[in-house]
Amino acid sequence: MSNLLQFSISETLSLLEKKEFSTQELVETYINAIEKTKDLNMYLTTCFDQALEKAKISDQNYLNGNQRFLEGIPLGVKDMFCTKGIETTASSKILKKFIPTYESTVTQNLWKEGAINLGKLSCDEFAMGSSNETAAKGEVINPWNFEEKRTPGGSSGGSAAAVAAKAALAATGTDTGGSIRQPAAFCGVVGLKPTYGRCSRWGIVAFASSLDQAGPITRNVSDAALMLQVMSSYDPKDSTSSNKDVPNFYNDLGKSIKGIKIGIPEEYNSDGISSDILNAKDMTINFLKENGAEIIPVKLPLTKYSLPVYYIVAPAEASSNLARYDGVRYGARIDGNSLDEMYENTRNLGFGDEVKRRIMIGTYVLSSGYYDAYYLKAQKVRRLIKNEFTEIFKQVDYLVTPTTPTTAFKLGSTQDLLTMYLNDVFTVPASLAGIPGISLPIKLDKNKLPVGIQILGKDFDEQGLLNVAKVIESCASFKDTPNGAAS
Ligand code: GLN
Repeated sequence: MSNLLQFSISETLSLLEKKEFSTQELVETYINAIEKTKDLNMYLTTCFDQALEKAKISDQNYLNGNQRFLEGIPLGVKDMFCTKGIETTASSKILKKFIPTYESTVTQNLWKEGAINLGKLSCDEFAMGSSNETAAKGEVINPWNFEEKRTPGGSSGGSAAAVAAKAALAATGTDTGGSIRQPAAFCGVVGLKPTYGRCSRWGIVAFASSLDQAGPITRNVSDAALMLQVMSSYDPKDSTSSNKDVPNFYNDLGKSIKGIKIGIPEEYNSDGISSDILNAKDMTINFLKENGAEIIPVKLPLTKYSLPVYYIVAPAEASSNLARYDGVRYGARIDGNSLDEMYENTRNLGFGDEVKRRIMIGTYVLSSGYYDAYYLKAQKVRRLIKNEFTEIFKQVDYLVTPTTPTTAFKLGSTQDLLTMYLNDVFTVPASLAGIPGISLPIKLDKNKLPVGIQILGKDFDEQGLLNVAKVIESCASFKDTPNGAAS
């Protein structure tokens, strides 16, 4: 059989079922691909022996006709998901040698359905960042024009890069303010942030608990549907997980979008947005029109407050979540002459600069005297942003926006923090509102870098998002592969 890396999840499943190749061969091919793409710095830990063992079980299941939903599908896992017996560091020095004794619910759901773990993928430290440059073990290199050393985006940079570079058939990501959608856009793959509560957060290293959501990063929209179906579940161990039924996202794909209303928010148009991105947006609008959707310009005036609100709420929650890393319970410990000194040494050497900055901002906005002025105020504005989306979704079914203001920038080129934070200007609003969003690639820009478009929808309407995305995907027919991909 020709190159096994070229197939999507659904194609791979049907070829495995037809015994065109074995899971063993498939996993070996991916292991090889990971070795070939080592220079991109995507995997922090690999678990090849375990993967090959699991492949044997999958082959047996195919032989007996007992195959499960994702039997034998080799995946990469963002290092924010706790994986039993496999080092989980959240790309931080402070979690070095932390080997969880438990498995996150989302990854457990995947393994239960026969998917196979290839290893843990790099990300920004504790998922804080937009470029993968805060990762303790150094940044991931985007497989597109890899010789130019561009960012894969962040924080799920390793996941998006690995899927694009064919070093995983799909991957898990987490999105707090854009960390699935922005790297997916930068790497030319599909990234879906589900509605808050669709996937359990149990066993995922917490960054900002009211915003964190797990989701899939895949090569196409159908694969996102397959992955989401398995990743989603009600989980009594996460009180914010939803007990809504999980639809059969994959089977119900492909519905016509005739007559649906698509809003185009005029505010998603920041200064400095590249003409290629605007052009991708226009192309998308035309695809939608050709398929019978109605295009309606809309206004979301509170959009401009999203970033300031996010950069209060997210650090506040982070400062409280990260208090648990004290050198006693998890990972690394740097001794001192007293208990306090041990805490200080561990946290000082264990956390990187961006994480420390967020802990300080978060502690400040939560401190007495400032709580009302910052944190409480931000929470109130967050509610207004949510209400604005609720109102707009009475007029339109979906919103279409660019995913990012620029395509992948060069690593090391963004020195100033504000510019870095501005990367998430189009993704953060949906995170604050808890609504689902998907990014998919439309075209390449003049530098031959992928351009992503984002679709946002109502709470728990991932099915609709996937349907709209599927229509856009078939019109855009984005088929390019990065030069840094394994072959
Ligand atoms: N880039 C944003 C941040 O730095 C979002 C990160 C995320 O979604 N995890 O916080």
